[in-house]
Amino acid sequence: MKLDPLGFLFPPRCPFCRSILDEESICPTCQESLPWLIGTKARRKPPNLELCAAALRYEGNVKGCIHRYKFRRRRGYARVLGPLVAQCAHDHMPQSFDLISWPPLSAKGLRRRGFDQARLLAQAVARDRGTEETPLFHKRETAQQSRLKTPEARRANVLGAYTLLEPALVRDKRVLLVDDVVTSGATLSECARVLLTAGAKEVWAVTLASAGGPRA
Ligand SMILES: [Zn+2]
Repeated sequence: MKLDPLGFLFPPRCPFCRSILDEESICPTCQESLPWLIGTKARRKPPNLELCAAALRYEGNVKGCIHRYKFRRRRGYARVLGPLVAQCAHDHMPQSFDLISWPPLSAKGLRRRGFDQARLLAQAVARDRGTEETPLFHKRETAQQSRLKTPEARRANVLGAYTLLEPALVRDKRVLLVDDVVTSGATLSECARVLLTAGAKEVWAVTLASAGGPRA
């Protein structure tokens, strides 16, 4: 039984500006005014990746939205955010991938949050392409990347943090990694390094938002 069938208590809201809507979507104002990244501005090339594309710049309402999604556990946001990442993949990525995955939370991080925000986005991208996301990594507990300020500290923090669940699975594969935010690119680069070391052919990445950094 749904507790709030008509949405009186929790009406659908735009995840970016929180205005009340008839259905879960992005409001017309945000459609118009969000910092969408277009063309080459959406693209950068962190080490080990063919390309990393992002749908939005990580600022203002985008930052607030992702913060609520991750830290205030608005799991339902994935239904609106996922298709944005899927569209971004259509705009910038090759048509076919052998594997679609994501840099996972650690076991402790997953227990704390209750869901893996990047996995839900990877799931949306995979479903859009008629397939399913594949868990590839184990992540050991590390300090939160967002608390580390310098690119060097972020790189050091994730070095060796990800290991493959089944290394043989990625050999000669073209892999797409999906994440919520790319900042220094350290996490995605490290995951790509691990994949390439195990014999993956190419690694690409798509994210909901990009906090800047060098462009491709
Ligand atoms: Zn809005």
